[in-house]
This record gives sequence, C-alpha cells and structure tokens, in this order.
Amino acid sequence: MELPEVAAPELSLDTMRDITRELSSDAFEGRAPGTVGEEKTLALLTAKFAEAGIEPGNGDSWYQDVPLVSIEAKNVSALTVKGDAEAMDFAYGPEMVITSYQEQAKIDVTDSEMVFVGYGINAPEREWNDYDGVDVKGKTVVILVNDPDFGTESLEGEFGGRAMTYYGRWTYKYEEAARQGAAAALIIHDTAPAAYGWNVVESSWSGPQFYAQSANGGADQTKANGWIQKEVAAKIFASAGQDLDQMMTAARNKAFKAVPLGLTASMSFENDIGKMNSKNVIGMIKGKTRPDEYVLYTAHWDHLGRCKPAPDGDDICNGAVDNATGTAALVALAEAHVKAGTPDRSILFLAVTAEESGLLGSKYYAENPIYPLNKTVGGVNMDAFAMAGPAKNIVVVGKGKSQLDRYLEGALTVEGRVAEAEPTPEKGFYYRSDHFSFAKLGVPMIYFDGGEDLIEGGRAAGEAVSKDYTENRYHGPKDEFDPNWNWDGVMADLKVYYTVARMLAMTEDWPNWNEGDEFRDIRDKSLADS
Ligand SMILES: [Zn+2]
Repeated sequence: MELPEVAAPELSLDTMRDITRELSSDAFEGRAPGTVGEEKTLALLTAKFAEAGIEPGNGDSWYQDVPLVSIEAKNVSALTVKGDAEAMDFAYGPEMVITSYQEQAKIDVTDSEMVFVGYGINAPEREWNDYDGVDVKGKTVVILVNDPDFGTESLEGEFGGRAMTYYGRWTYKYEEAARQGAAAALIIHDTAPAAYGWNVVESSWSGPQFYAQSANGGADQTKANGWIQKEVAAKIFASAGQDLDQMMTAARNKAFKAVPLGLTASMSFENDIGKMNSKNVIGMIKGKTRPDEYVLYTAHWDHLGRCKPAPDGDDICNGAVDNATGTAALVALAEAHVKAGTPDRSILFLAVTAEESGLLGSKYYAENPIYPLNKTVGGVNMDAFAMAGPAKNIVVVGKGKSQLDRYLEGALTVEGRVAEAEPTPEKGFYYRSDHFSFAKLGVPMIYFDGGEDLIEGGRAAGEAVSKDYTENRYHGPKDEFDPNWNWDGVMADLKVYYTVARMLAMTEDWPNWNEGDEFRDIRDKSLADS
C-alpha cells in the first residue's frame, strides 16, 4: 500500500514555546493531579483546543473523569532491621523511601522476616519463579531492580537480553509481591539497572502517590512498598552474613532460590488519604469520509507537583520538558491539522493524567475507551521533546514492533533523517510512557525520542545534553523552561509527529503489529470483534 502524500504543515513555534512556558511556570505548581495545577492546566488546554478549532472529544465535554486515590506517607519512621547483631536504623529519604497502596490510616510493619527473592519474578511461560519453594506471607521481600539478563551485551536471553522486559519494572515487582502475600516489598536501588539515580527515586516517591480507585481499597496490596539505597542493602546483607554482590550474581541464575536473611524489618507511618476525579482531556477533528475510524495522539499533562527541594530551596518540579512540551505539541498539532483541512479519518488529541504515577490516565482511557479500540487505527505518544537541537536521526522505542514503522520511515525520508532503534533497551522505556497502556490492549503505537546525532556537534554533543538532562533535571526541580532553548530540533520532530498521523488519517490501511510481536494476537482478536 502506497503511503499518502502529505503537504508541509503549518506548525507554530509560538504555540509550542508559549504553552510550554506557561504550563511549566511556578503558577502551575508542577501540575500534580488534584491540585490547583490541574485546574489551571485543564483550563489552559481546553481554551487552546477550542481556539485551535477542534471539538470536545467526549460528547460535548472535553473531559473524561479518572477516579484516583491519593495516599501520602506522613511521620515515617526509620526502617529498623534486627538480627543477632545490633539493630540498624535507616533514615527515610536519604536511605530509604516508602509508601502504601492500602487505604489504611496507619501502617505498621513489625518484626517482619526479611527474604531476598532475587529479581522477584514469577514468569511461568519462561519457567522462572523466584518465589518457588518459599512462603513470604507477612514477610518483607527484598528485590533487585531490572531483570536477570540485564547485564548481558546482546538482546538474546531469558528476559530479552540487555533489553528490559515488563518483569524488570518496579510496578511489576510490587504487583507480584502482593500476589505472594508479602507484608512489604523493598527494591534495592542501583543506578544503572534502574536507569536513574537515587535523587529521582527520592523526589518521585515523596509527596502524595496516586493509584486507580479500587473496590477493596487496596486490601490485596502489600502494606508497604519502598526502595532502599544499594549501600543500605549491602549493610543489611553483611549483617546477615551474606554478600550483596554474590547474591546479585546468584539471582541471575534460573536455579536461584530465595534466601531468608534471618533478620526482621520494622517500620511505621501514617497515610493521608484523599479521593478525587482527575481528568483526561480529549479533543477531536471529525473525519470526512471515515469518521468512525480514529487516529490517536497522546501526551501526559501531569507532572510531580511539589517535590524534594533543590539546594537553592526550589521545591516545584516544573516538568517543562517532561511533559509540558508534549502537551503543547497536542495544541500545535491540532492547529496544524485544522489548517490542513478535514482529514478522511477522525483525529483524537488525548492529554492524559497521572502518567507519573504509573500510566494511570492512559490505562483508564484504554480500559474505558470513548472510541472503541478496534476502531482506533493507531497512535503516536509524545513524552518529553529533546531540547538538544536538530538531529540527523530519531530514536525509536520499540522499533521493529509494528507496521507503523513504514509510516515513520516515510515521514523521515522526506526530511533526510533516519530512524534508529533505541540504544538502551535495558532502561525499559517501552514500558515507561502512555503508549504502553494502548499497546497492551492491541492498539499499534509509535513512540520515539529526538535523536542524539546532532547536525551541529554530532553524537558527542547530543549525548552531553541528554546526560545533563538525566542527571540534573529529569524528575527534579530543574526541569524548567529555558528562554535560551534552541527549538529547531523540536519543530523538526513535531513535523514527523504531524506527518505520521496525517498519513494514517488519509489512508484506508490498518497497520498491525508485526507477525510474532507480543501484541499481535491481542490486536487480531480485537479487530475480529469489530
Ligand atoms: Zn513524561
């Protein structure tokens, strides 16, 4: 099938810059769900969607309610670890962080036996079970981050080689610990396999944490979920007469068996619990010839709100790059698609909430779609534009997964740019933004990052910018708007996002996941129902 020809779009740099600046200003307080920052974000976004000339996407409403519960740990005790030797206390914040998914006013974990469960994975289809032969009910499990073949060079292996699988994500590890009946789950932080430093853990895990509302108030969850610093883990293992490094090596082996540490853990804290409806925002352009077929744009509008202060006292995580840029892009793209005239298929512009809390807004939409997923042709997710300047490449997260790659390549060829597979699949980016919520239910989704092979300065310059972002800005108070940013690369990437979706909106094609991909069967079944 030929790709449709798409004329050059009118994409407004002013829209991108002005909306990014405004959403990331201190007045928006870091856009945490349920705060004044949410109110301001919703007001701004709906006004801009209306100005752009698109329609409300949920009947005559711009909104979809997303029922959330917020739980904030207060008066957190130290983590006390006891054994034969003297008890050790580890401080909340610098040494450990903790939260609860249970809607309980007071959480007490008292003298709970500690068990090291390796990577904390129970994967019957891979015949791998770190919980085999051990009963962890009421106990505190200690878990490694990422998955067992994280350290290998290739992409071959029990768990995708160097690439992270869903089993490597912290969300999975807490889910499995709860299924096993553990009282508490502590993940050992390690910068390389976690893909971010302790600073990110500490800022992301302090303040209110959000969850989807559940009928049982989280009663099936562990009482306490947290992280401990690697040095803390080393001390705990040493006092148990074990060596952390040796244990880490042993856990990579399929024959690994969970190790009771002969120690107990105690901790307590209070929970501040709130319930609310946060909101996804949705606008649409109704298609001309096939209005009941939908092309989807997604970007999360939320960020972390007030967070751990920087040394200068700044305690607002502004989220300028992450993801004021992607939210602004929804508006700039809406304007451009309206100017280009009515497309054949409908185009949806979905700004989701609570991505930072575990993709909650996108998951809610995907499970309660306003437009059927088997009528949703495919989509594009935007999360954090690269501010490094124009690049020769783009970096595709999940390259080779779906036939959308053809559209992406078509859009890039015109620009003389190339698509590269992500260089660091071990960081698990495929599971770390909203496209995953849709992919999991079968909708083909494209997600890419601006490339690091810069037109000026090449890879060295690009890598330096991205290293600075990850180490000094990502999920911290210094992800702020910078008036000196060079927007040329952003506008070039925006054009690619435009072209891919425009082509999809002007074809009759239904690109699918490639044969053998993990999501192909789900899509085939879903399409068969339509
Ligand atoms: Zn983001």
